[in-house]
Amino acid sequence: MRGVDENLATDIAKTALPPAPGTDRYRSLDFADTTATLPAGQGYDLLAAPESAMRWLAAHNLTTPDVQLYEVCAQRMRTLRGHVRALFTACVNGTTPPEESLHAVNEALTSVPTAPLLAWDGAQGLRRIQAHPTDQAVNHALATLAADAADLLTGPDAGLLAACGSAPCDRFLLRTHGRRHWCSTRCGDRVRAARAYARRSGTSG
Ligand SMILES: [Zn+2]
Repeated sequence: MRGVDENLATDIAKTALPPAPGTDRYRSLDFADTTATLPAGQGYDLLAAPESAMRWLAAHNLTTPDVQLYEVCAQRMRTLRGHVRALFTACVNGTTPPEESLHAVNEALTSVPTAPLLAWDGAQGLRRIQAHPTDQAVNHALATLAADAADLLTGPDAGLLAACGSAPCDRFLLRTHGRRHWCSTRCGDRVRAARAYARRSGTSG
């Protein structure tokens, strides 16, 4: 029997837009895009509940099955997402990033080490391991996402960061070529349909 959450997740999956260009290279970009505004006032939030947030983390290799996520964890993810989105918006618009968002990302970055630690194992010898206790799994995920966002915002791809040009969609993407600046074919089709409609109504008076 399917649980309520599973039904909800299926509904969200049907509504959710496909991954935007660049999200395969930057997990922070997909993180920012876990919420979207759709036409007619609809929208979705893949981090709305601990279960769906857990699924998102698992799909992005940011947690292990033994980790239990609580609402407070999902809330922390949504809060950091808000700050990452604010920094992305400032980057796209060429404006000064909000101080509190810089602070939030830096806090996430420094709360736990993201570097794999050097460990000695009698059977395997020296190796690098991602060492963090289970109760720090969310801190670790947030630190990894914050580091990824910082890399995106300061690297060569920062200039490619764009906001979807198909209002009211508010997702981010990396521009892949030239003029294209919508996050999905669904958004692109909507823009083209609107343009065609405007042309038709323009000629008919
Ligand atoms: Zn879009």
